[in-house]
Amino acid sequence: MKIPTADPATFALSDWQSFVSEQGHKPFRARQIYRWIHHRGTFDPEQMTDLPQDLREALGELGLSEPGSVSFVYEAADGTRKILLDLKDETRLECVLIPMTSVGPDDDDDGEPVGSRVRVTLCVSTQVGCAMGCTFCASGQAGLVRGLRAAEILAQVYVARRYLKESEDLRNLVFMGMGEPLHHYDETKRALDFLTDPDGAAISPRRITVSTVGLVPGIRRLGADYSGKIGLALSLHAADDETRSRIMPMNRRYPIAELMQALREYPLPPRRRITIEYTLIRDVNDSEAHADRLASLLRGLPVKVNLIPMNSIEASDYRGADQDRVSSFQGRLAARGYSCFVRTRRGDEVSAACGQLALKGIAPERLVRKLS
Ligand code: SAH
Repeated sequence: MKIPTADPATFALSDWQSFVSEQGHKPFRARQIYRWIHHRGTFDPEQMTDLPQDLREALGELGLSEPGSVSFVYEAADGTRKILLDLKDETRLECVLIPMTSVGPDDDDDGEPVGSRVRVTLCVSTQVGCAMGCTFCASGQAGLVRGLRAAEILAQVYVARRYLKESEDLRNLVFMGMGEPLHHYDETKRALDFLTDPDGAAISPRRITVSTVGLVPGIRRLGADYSGKIGLALSLHAADDETRSRIMPMNRRYPIAELMQALREYPLPPRRRITIEYTLIRDVNDSEAHADRLASLLRGLPVKVNLIPMNSIEASDYRGADQDRVSSFQGRLAARGYSCFVRTRRGDEVSAACGQLALKGIAPERLVRKLS
């Protein structure tokens, strides 16, 4: 029997078609399996209750199974949930569910009523650790363990959906967890393809944002592969090369001028904007002069700016900017006409905030129910 050597968890529909016909089953079974995985969100053949038993067994023999199992779920007082997934090679990864109930912008400008539903954003990881070496980031300081397989990226979405509350809708996916998505492009793209497939998870590309340190070739590929429909976020953090190279080593490879050129060329659909992330680090990039430089740099670009007061991490002496610096930074950008929001710290006490994704020091009482 001809079995494709690829991971069955990420078989294309056509792979499933060959598989079921080789197994002597009717062609419609292929779509059924595909929808169990990418629409219903399970990789476990035993859950696929409307498949014949022998087909379920064949799927088990093929090696189809959940890429990870949930080991812990922690919930912070603000409703942020951090889900820890144990992968088959015993590495562990984290994703974070963030209810967008707090005051602040709704990034979504499609004008749909929210009603009483709570919109939740899921923060997805693409690697265990990260190779980019940003000096203020826990993942960056830890280094790269390995990239995730597409199925492991998908599993975060499919598993996290099981932890939504009655009143919640999973609204946005942000690739802002551990790792640099554009440094792990192929598997990230495979995952994006399943997530946006109308027969699969059917998530609109405009509800997905990929965040990058600024790998220029990756930005261009992403733009070309999805015609600019996938949202782009750039972790800029400084508007001059000297400061940026100091905190983000990758800036030496792709300096700011090149980055800005790549942003200008990103094939953004009308009315969409690129997100600029700016982590405010005390006495490093948080002065009014820095704000003015940022405003000048971004002039003419369709952007919105997210300011993130830096969250402290063990591996770095850098500290978050003081509140008054954050306010005056925001004020100066707003005065120049930028839409500019301060991201409030979410899930801090379960170490779920930006750059803190690493397992340690979580109070046991924050552990919530774990699904089997
Ligand atoms: N590698 C991608 C995505 C992961 S990081 C990127 O760099 O964009 C997601 C965001 O968290 C980035 O903007 C990153 O700079 C920011 N971040 C990292 N460490 C942080 C910290 N300690 N405090 C606040 N934000 C941080």
